[in-house]
Amino acid sequence: MIVGILKEIKIKEDRVCMTPGGVVTMVANGHDVIVEKGAGLGSSFSDAEYVAAGATIIDAAADVYAKADMVMHVKEPQPSEYAMIRKGQIVFTYLHLAADKPQTDGLVASGATCIAYETVQMADRSLPLLTPMSEVAGRMAIQQGAKALEAVNGGIGKLIGGVPGVAPAKIMVIGGGVVGVQAAKMACGLGAQVYLLDINLDRLRYLEDVMPANCTTIMSSKAAIHELLPQVDLVVGAVLIPGAKAPSVLTRADLKLMRPKTAIVDVAIDQGGCFETSKPTTHTDPTYVVDEIVHYCVANIPGAVPLTSTMALTNATLPFAVQLANKGWKKACQDNHALALGLNVHEGKLTFKGVCDAFDMPY
Ligand code: NAD
Repeated sequence: MIVGILKEIKIKEDRVCMTPGGVVTMVANGHDVIVEKGAGLGSSFSDAEYVAAGATIIDAAADVYAKADMVMHVKEPQPSEYAMIRKGQIVFTYLHLAADKPQTDGLVASGATCIAYETVQMADRSLPLLTPMSEVAGRMAIQQGAKALEAVNGGIGKLIGGVPGVAPAKIMVIGGGVVGVQAAKMACGLGAQVYLLDINLDRLRYLEDVMPANCTTIMSSKAAIHELLPQVDLVVGAVLIPGAKAPSVLTRADLKLMRPKTAIVDVAIDQGGCFETSKPTTHTDPTYVVDEIVHYCVANIPGAVPLTSTMALTNATLPFAVQLANKGWKKACQDNHALALGLNVHEGKLTFKGVCDAFDMPY
């Protein structure tokens, strides 16, 4: 199969869908890989590295679409690309169709087979192609929270780990899923006193077993949060109710319980935010202050570290991409139910119930 690696054209997207290392694996499986010129530059991978890995560099996206049996992206195809997608071609990328009617129409019209990273789902209901970005965001939440606590950024001026003779910061992480665990681990590693809250008691039992000694697990409730707010220097919001807007865990009135110049990081901002005072920010202007509390609410946190994010994404997507290339979409989906759940569009028809429901279309 000819596998096409496209350059991202969505604004501020520096990731690429396959590393040169991923190309080596594809080529070893007997496939030809064509890479759009400059596709890896935002993630610090040169064209020469792709060539050394066995790929051929192609100047224009149109030629990648014209030649490849399967095209891969990170972000969804943009309107300028819809007409380039060919009937019978496999498109493997994040799609998020339910929120994007024009793209849905474009992919349906193309006649291609489109498999969405975000709906590939394992038997335990985990989403293996979303998990790596949550891992990055969770770890980054503490890095960014540490910056928000610096005096130069309007923070209280506290070092998360403290120093010998000076106590470390106290950090409350609300939500003990993928993001929350990575945030808590990072904070624990820096020496903070960490409180990890969740509403799922079984999850708390598990977390109690696996987290370091400087992490205390607590059943999340209004009362528990109110008790901790006056003590903590940083709050990380990492809650999720699948398929729904993020639940609200901090109101504006709650901020009054926090000490001035302490900070909050709302990772759930991409789902609407879990703090009443959150509004989406960008990497160029990531923080703002409400009622003396520093807010960090970047909606695309992994975008700040495209090299790591690209590598993490390739680690997760590559095994599925290899299956699609080796077997073709039909056999690959028959053999792997998780991958079959990724099928969103096939030969002019929507094949994912959630997307059909979103547009009131028959499934
Ligand atoms: P997850 O499903 O793994 O974990 C969510 C956890 O929140 C679950 O353990 C759940 O029990 C818990 N929870 C739900 N309601 C709660 C409540 N009221 N109080 C306490 N805990 C509650 O999800 P995840 O992968 O960790 O993602 C968390 C959030 O981070 C999501 O909104 C996701 O979209 C977001 N995210 C944002 C970025 C970004 O760049 N901003 C990147 C990745 C993920």
